[in-house]
Amino acid sequence: MLFLLRQFEKTMDTISKILEQSSFSHSDLEQLLLCVGDEKSLLFKKSSDIKTLFVGNKVYFRGLIEFSNVCDKDCYYCGIRNSNLFVRRYNLTDGEILDAARFADENRFGSIVLQSGENCSPAFADRITNLLKQIKQLSKGKLGISLSVGEQSESVYRRWFEAGAHRYLLRIETSNQALFHKIHPDDLHHDFNRRMDCLHALKAIGYQTGTGVMIGLPFQTISDLANDLLFFQQFGIDMVGMGPYIEHSDTPLYAFRDQLLSLQERFDLSLKMIAILRVLMKDINIAAATALQAIDPLGREKGIKVGANIIMPNVTPGLYRNDYSLYENKPCVDEEPAQCKGCLDARVALANGEICYEEWGDSIHFMKRKKGE
Ligand code: SAM
Repeated sequence: MLFLLRQFEKTMDTISKILEQSSFSHSDLEQLLLCVGDEKSLLFKKSSDIKTLFVGNKVYFRGLIEFSNVCDKDCYYCGIRNSNLFVRRYNLTDGEILDAARFADENRFGSIVLQSGENCSPAFADRITNLLKQIKQLSKGKLGISLSVGEQSESVYRRWFEAGAHRYLLRIETSNQALFHKIHPDDLHHDFNRRMDCLHALKAIGYQTGTGVMIGLPFQTISDLANDLLFFQQFGIDMVGMGPYIEHSDTPLYAFRDQLLSLQERFDLSLKMIAILRVLMKDINIAAATALQAIDPLGREKGIKVGANIIMPNVTPGLYRNDYSLYENKPCVDEEPAQCKGCLDARVALANGEICYEEWGDSIHFMKRKKGE
């Protein structure tokens, strides 16, 4: 027993020493990802303190408009993949998208995110350009706009930037190239290097650049996750949105469900990823992903407590929510936007956060990068 206690003290000591360091090796990150009990509490206390110090306790809203589930891609994990014939496809009208943006503006959300399945047609590029201009106009420039519509050409990214989008989210999904290719079809449309090129293009154009990974994928290891964290740091990413992988029965990866960590373990690992990332990259924006809430009703609030500072309340009209089913048990699918907002006010207060209305909440990391600091 005493021996066990000594061992335990040694580990606590190790974790607290790692947390005092100014840089972290791959092995340090693995140790942090594996910490449990009091060690984990220590990590969460540290990440929460760092968050307060570097980005404050403000939580910024990004009203999420999932405007279409039509997708050209066939990612093996995603419920809206092109080959899934069980999905009822939808595409909001421009009027519906503008109404959702108006709702976000009227409810004093600082920003919105336009997200959809992937479409690389010129007509899609034109449509987004026009929507960006109209949203800027209807909100008198007040609404910040993030885009999350996948891989596009550099010229399209540039056009959208010029039309008013200033943040872009494109998850790398995993920084392990071999794993990336295991969870995507083996063709030119699902290429790791192409995705990396897109991230570099977005950064060069001047977007606040966001990426992320899924946590708890089949075949993924703790070493992969440690590398994901190092990748975010080496790339100098401005924002991260990452969350647990959740299986969907109508996707190829469902065949590997027996190899997965339990949902609770994936949730726990996701919180640790958020906390460690906050310690590693103190001034970036970190979103508390909706997938956290699919596992735990207070999932996003727990994400806020350990280091996240962004929440993306869904402002897609309730009618369509059920059909943007990336994974099973997606939360809030049967609510209307107004209900969603009321519920979040109370939830963020529970996590000692303070919702910041009418502000963009830009990434401090990005602003320093821009100034060359
Ligand atoms: N088409 C855009 C793109 O690829 O960036 C945006 C839409 S895509 C559906 C948004 C994100 O959903 C993906 O980057 C992926 O990480 C996440 N996602 C898809 N299927 C998921 C699953 N089964 N579990 C958790 N997250 C999932």
